[in-house]
Amino acid sequence: MRRVSIFGATGSIGQNTIDLIDRNPSAYNVVALTGGANIEKLAEDARRLNADLAVTAHEDRLDDLRSALCGSNVEAAAGQTALTEAAARPADWVMSAIVGAAGLPPGIEALKQGATLALANKETLVCAGSLVLETASAHNARLLPVDSEHSAVFQALVGEDMEAVERIIITASGGAFRDWPIGDLANATVEQASNHPNWNMGQRITIDSASMFNKALEVIETKEFFGVDADQIEVLVHPESIVHALVGFNDGAVMAHMGAPDMRHAIGFALHWPDRRDLPVDRLNLARLGQLRFHEPDEARYPALRLARNVMERGGLSGAVFNAAKERALDHFINRQIGFLEMADIVEAVLDRFEAADGLIDAPMNLDNVLQTDHLARKWADAAVIQKAG
Ligand code: NDP
Repeated sequence: MRRVSIFGATGSIGQNTIDLIDRNPSAYNVVALTGGANIEKLAEDARRLNADLAVTAHEDRLDDLRSALCGSNVEAAAGQTALTEAAARPADWVMSAIVGAAGLPPGIEALKQGATLALANKETLVCAGSLVLETASAHNARLLPVDSEHSAVFQALVGEDMEAVERIIITASGGAFRDWPIGDLANATVEQASNHPNWNMGQRITIDSASMFNKALEVIETKEFFGVDADQIEVLVHPESIVHALVGFNDGAVMAHMGAPDMRHAIGFALHWPDRRDLPVDRLNLARLGQLRFHEPDEARYPALRLARNVMERGGLSGAVFNAAKERALDHFINRQIGFLEMADIVEAVLDRFEAADGLIDAPMNLDNVLQTDHLARKWADAAVIQKAG
């Protein structure tokens, strides 16, 4: 039996992963499931899948989790340390689907015990790319992409020589506001930004799709994951979300990966890799679709893409700064303290402040420095919001 753990089990990716495991439960021994506030769902799944351990990220919810698991054989734990300890439990395959930089420490721990890490949590590579890749290599652990674009690139590269790769093109749906006049974006509401035209995802990534901060993170993730230069990565807006990524080779050939917009494809690919297995996703009918459209993104509409390019050029810990400032800006937007377009202003202000502070971005990349940088960037993002309000 394959030992699997799912971090972020109660979320959108976590539930899609459980859906696949539920279809063949006798093949898996579930080591750990983790969640946050949704104790009921966590306990229900942990009982049904007969998990060894269930962990909530919230220390003060331990009693609730214990009560919800009462009478089962599932062990309960709570808090950030418990999450990292859960990741240290031997498992063959670990899904990293916590949202945000909180996914980084358990991801590193899972790599240290030599697991295959299925990486939905793009923040892991954005915040600490070289550290994560070095940890994987030192412990003979494997990283597999779960973001649909990166899974698509990975699949297009099977059997190919990286030396022959000229460029990687990742597609973007354009998010909730792709057809809005730019002049209306300043007044976009949280509800409007939370309504994705093609994908059914968690609220945070859905809003990040509308602002293209999600794509910005993915561009950085592409650079780290595939080891290409920033100028080899392109973004194309593709409203149908059928082509997830394309790889261009030095003979002019372009390999495109297509599939219905359903995350169970990328999750299933990572779960069964190196095999391909039957998956419960819609089959494409291109004749019915009739057309696939592509156009270049307008950076005036999506300043996050420009900021991502700056981050890739700057290197060091700037990815951790970018992500943390983005996470706080998103919190402030969701709490209705700033407008939709102000998120990018806050992130840029924090990046500039780090740049002006000698040595911070160029500190050595280790977990402590990444976490300290993340902490400071959040504080400075909060300060920038207060300054804007004043
Ligand atoms: P969701 O918001 O749906 O789920 C997030 C999960 O993380 C939940 O289990 C949540 O628990 C848990 N969580 C939240 N905060 C913390 C914390 N501080 N510490 C530990 N656990 C926490 O997110 P998604 O599933 O949409 O996304 C997860 C990751 O996958 C993100 O990095 C996202 O960018 C990436 N991704 C998602 C895609 C999608 O289709 N959804 C596509 C590609 C990548 P609870 O809900 O119980 O509070």
